[in-house]
Amino acid sequence: MQPTSWDVIIIGAGPAGLMAAIPCAESGLRTLVLDSQGTIGAKLLLSGGGRCNVTNLKVSEKDYQTGEPRTVRNILRSFPPERTLAFFKELGVEMVLEEGTKYFPERQSAKVVLQALLRASQHAGVIIQTGKKVKTVSKERKNFCVRGEDFECSAETLVIATGGLSYPGTGSDGSGYLLAKSLGHRIVPTTPALAPLITDEPDWKTLAGITLPVRLSVIAEGKKIAGSEGALLFTHLGFSGPAALDISGSWLRCQTAQKNLVVNFLPARREADLLAEWARGVAEHPDRSWKRSLTQYLPERLAEVLLRKSGIDPRSRLDQISKKGRASFIRALLHCPIGVSGSQGYEKAEVTAGGVDLGEVDPKTLASNLCPRLFFAGEVLDVDGRIGGFNFQWAWSSGAVVGQAIMRELSLQA
Ligand SMILES: Cc1cc2nc3c(=O)[nH]c(=O)nc-3n(C[C@H](O)[C@H](O)[C@H](O)COP(=O)(O)OP(=O)(O)OC[C@H]3O[C@@H](n4cnc5c(N)ncnc54)[C@H](O)[C@@H]3O)c2cc1C
Repeated sequence: MQPTSWDVIIIGAGPAGLMAAIPCAESGLRTLVLDSQGTIGAKLLLSGGGRCNVTNLKVSEKDYQTGEPRTVRNILRSFPPERTLAFFKELGVEMVLEEGTKYFPERQSAKVVLQALLRASQHAGVIIQTGKKVKTVSKERKNFCVRGEDFECSAETLVIATGGLSYPGTGSDGSGYLLAKSLGHRIVPTTPALAPLITDEPDWKTLAGITLPVRLSVIAEGKKIAGSEGALLFTHLGFSGPAALDISGSWLRCQTAQKNLVVNFLPARREADLLAEWARGVAEHPDRSWKRSLTQYLPERLAEVLLRKSGIDPRSRLDQISKKGRASFIRALLHCPIGVSGSQGYEKAEVTAGGVDLGEVDPKTLASNLCPRLFFAGEVLDVDGRIGGFNFQWAWSSGAVVGQAIMRELSLQA
């Protein structure tokens, strides 16, 4: 029978929890990881389309939304992407670089990442118990008492690494926030992030399946408050693809009623150049239709929708539109508001924005400032990254920093 008293208990066997557990157990601390799920790593196996975008070549605090960028910088610097790559290399997982900055396992499988993590945990002596949903935590004298439906255990040190609210089917159901709250911590209000957006405008839905490179901006009360660049994918419900996912958190967080999501459908082109090109087009091919002349820039179905939205008959000839009409259409092309009515929510959000307030943790160790020997790691904290391996890097960095901090603290005591 396993003991009920441990040196360290970690709630959550996701990337952050396991990363924290490994150094603790390696240094001889009796380390228990509890997870509510019957099997571990459901989210990791889904990640990156089953390939797991493990990290990114260039990571800085600017790639994250958080209330405390300086803390994020400290943590990332303490365990940067190079350390992540070295850690996995030592476990036999080679990485390959894609699209210039994104690292994926060479074997193109999230499974090898999960297996490596589990091997390292087992080798270090971490005890993982599955099917153990933690319902309450309390501090009783020096010890944390951790309770679930049919179990109870205690430890001097507790790590909450329960993730956020996204993809609740994988186990992250937000219960970690309640545990943190019960120990006195403030939770920055949460919203889905990296979530597909939905629209009520039927025109956009007819474009389902089309992908193209765009620039997106959130304009609130006339001011640009966020931007993203990359592929936009039209879906049967609205908008997805990296550009839409990246901006979704900022859109959803923005509380003002006067907000617009604006697309630049030709981000590589300047308005003046387009005007000159189209003036040449009118001179050279006056009888060519607008729709036909636009297909060198845009997918045909999109060109048709944009023309209709601007009140131009797609079949009309280039010379039938006035100079003024051309200029206003080009502006609409480069600055097109798209009606967003919401997102597909936590069910389809890759991460959760908001979480445990970083202002209440030590900026170097992520130890609670309110409750001695309590630590937080991973997505449960108020940190969410953009698409491209940044969220896993936060999980690896924050987990490793917490593990090392616990190791140092407890070995000083010994
Ligand atoms: C579909 C999808 C694709 C993604 N792809 C990528 C990608 O390619 N690259 C990238 O960087 N990021 C990606 N992410 C984000 C990334 O998966 C997360 O940022 C990361 O998993 C967070 O790690 P974590 O350990 O903090 O939390 P989680 O991975 O959510 O793990 C938390 C664990 O805690 C357990 N738990 C929760 N509450 C309790 C409780 N009360 N008691 C016991 N256990 C509990 C859960 O069962 C879970 O196992 C993706 C996310 C999704 C949903």
